[in-house]
Amino acid sequence: MALIEIRGLVKAFGPVKAVDGINLDIESGEFITLLGPSGSGKTTVLRMVAGFEDPDAGQITLDGKDITHLAPFDRNVNTVFQDYALFPHMSVQENVEYGLRTRKVPKAQRAKQALEAIESVKLSHTADRLPHQLSGGQRQRIALARALVLRPQVLLLDEPLGALDRQLREEMQVELKRIQRDAGITFIFVTHDQDEAMRMSDRIVVFNHGRIEQVGTPQDVYERPATRFVAGFLGVSNLLEIPSAQSDTSKDATISIRPERIRLAPSSYQQRSGEVALGGRISEVAYLGSNTVFVVETDTGSRISVTTLNQELPTQGEGFGTGDRVLAVWQESQAAQISG
Ligand code: ATP
Repeated sequence: MALIEIRGLVKAFGPVKAVDGINLDIESGEFITLLGPSGSGKTTVLRMVAGFEDPDAGQITLDGKDITHLAPFDRNVNTVFQDYALFPHMSVQENVEYGLRTRKVPKAQRAKQALEAIESVKLSHTADRLPHQLSGGQRQRIALARALVLRPQVLLLDEPLGALDRQLREEMQVELKRIQRDAGITFIFVTHDQDEAMRMSDRIVVFNHGRIEQVGTPQDVYERPATRFVAGFLGVSNLLEIPSAQSDTSKDATISIRPERIRLAPSSYQQRSGEVALGGRISEVAYLGSNTVFVVETDTGSRISVTTLNQELPTQGEGFGTGDRVLAVWQESQAAQISG
């Protein structure tokens, strides 16, 4: 039995079906990310798990117990929001102790647990400070400590790093993952940032229009996207139509091939067995430092993106340029068949 089981979950706001029939199992100790574009329903699912939103239909169980319509404080889950929501007039330690105080935990015990939680986010030296005396990243970690101190079975995080600049955000991604691993708590994390999802998650749930498009490990969803939407949302992908004569099934098929899995070869190149080679002309070249992106207009009318890694200093006049005729070559086994 999974820790959380979501079955047939539906929520509409007037004419908008925010969540349109979702089924999902979440295992204990898992770092699972709900990923999707703005408005795809991620936050609404999180809010139903938290108890801030009442589903129109469906069921949510936690540890086998039906929590679908329970009040937020009657379920062993806790939420960390993007805006931290620390009390400005309370010290860091008082902020972290707050939830324990409302639960009538004795004073000495409260202080001990709060200091442990502050230590777990590596901010012991800030215990006496007020929130405005902390940086954005530190405030976010204290918000996390305040949630962790209550020892929830599940922690819900709604774009918690959204307000941080890029460098701090990347540091916090590593930090969050460490804290999750150390605490052994199940994290359900909402983001629209693909890199963030790839970096931190055990599994990613890809949302689109209130439905789940795919659930899998970062590698699964990147390497074997189930749908066109997933292929396009996670990184860049080339989607190519394969006529029925060449596809595994008798129907026309679509394949997804990543730009970094394709290489360019001169037109004279002899294709080997297991390889696919499409002839065309280079229409664009973008040098991006660590890699170069080429666009090839194929003779069959497709546009293909090809990325090459610049492992060596390029020599003037070498390599392919705009207007060159080339073959775009890849191993057949590197392409994924798309079903939807
Ligand atoms: P974002 O990344 O922008 O937060 P999201 O994927 O989390 O997006 P939701 O916030 O779940 O998406 O919203 C899903 C849909 O439901 C959207 O069309 C949104 O406008 C609508 N919606 C969400 N909450 C409400 C509400 N309280 N009242 C009316 N419509 C709502």
